[in-house]
Amino acid sequence: MLVSAKEMLEKAKAGKYAVGQFNINNLEWTKAILLTAQELNSPVILGVSEGAGKYMCGYETVVGMVKGMIKCLNITVPVALHLDHGSYEGAKACINAGFSSVMFDGSHYPIEENIAKTTELVNACNVLGISLEAEVGSIGGEEDGVVGAGECADPNECKMVADLGVTMLAAGIGNIHGKYPANWAGLNFDVLGAISEKVGDMPLVLHGGTGIPEDMIKKAISLGVSKINVNTECQLAFAAATRSYVEAGKDLSGKGFDPRKLLAPGFEAIKATVKEKMELFGSVNKA
Ligand SMILES: [Zn+2]
Repeated sequence: MLVSAKEMLEKAKAGKYAVGQFNINNLEWTKAILLTAQELNSPVILGVSEGAGKYMCGYETVVGMVKGMIKCLNITVPVALHLDHGSYEGAKACINAGFSSVMFDGSHYPIEENIAKTTELVNACNVLGISLEAEVGSIGGEEDGVVGAGECADPNECKMVADLGVTMLAAGIGNIHGKYPANWAGLNFDVLGAISEKVGDMPLVLHGGTGIPEDMIKKAISLGVSKINVNTECQLAFAAATRSYVEAGKDLSGKGFDPRKLLAPGFEAIKATVKEKMELFGSVNKA
């Protein structure tokens, strides 16, 4: 069964660990993440960007696939199906399609407009028991073609948005999407500490989890981060494993061209990446 991310994140915040959000792109991705969560007895959040939703033939297709898999694979750990960086329209579409969690990314709007639109979605989500993530201060790197500057969020603005009744809050603290550049300055823990103090029990979300050093991840969790988004790392692991298979000529020997064989190394690589992250985030055996 799909669940809202509210309870799992409140437990994570209280227990000083984080739940991973792993973005999905297709059947193999989804299956790899669900099976790993079950094996490790960990709660999990499946992230779907609007681009990935389009790629997978719409939100209803995604809901059907995920629900079908949960049933067929006997997945009993808490699973939230979450829209990642949703527009206002995208969030409404996912709410209607049966997602159990949505992010409305109003960070590119003036704060007043971000607040007005977030408030409307808070009401819609509360009625249906869906968790809602809001974002304050854009997160650097590329989000479906939109390149953010990677500024740090204003703790007072974070407090204003947290008080609207959202479930969790993403705040820029120097993190970026995609690979981190060699000259990256690191996470800004002063800003994270200030935000944490302002928002109290509200679970905080760290986007751009790929390539943040382990000690910084652990410190971020200790300062109130309870959800960490991982996307690029699974893509890199999948691509590298698939490349090795093809470069070794395995697709040319016997039935190695069978897609179920061709995609198997990438599938296993995603599983290994998810396992590594769940262990690092501390969510193992927290289902
Ligand atoms: Zn993000």
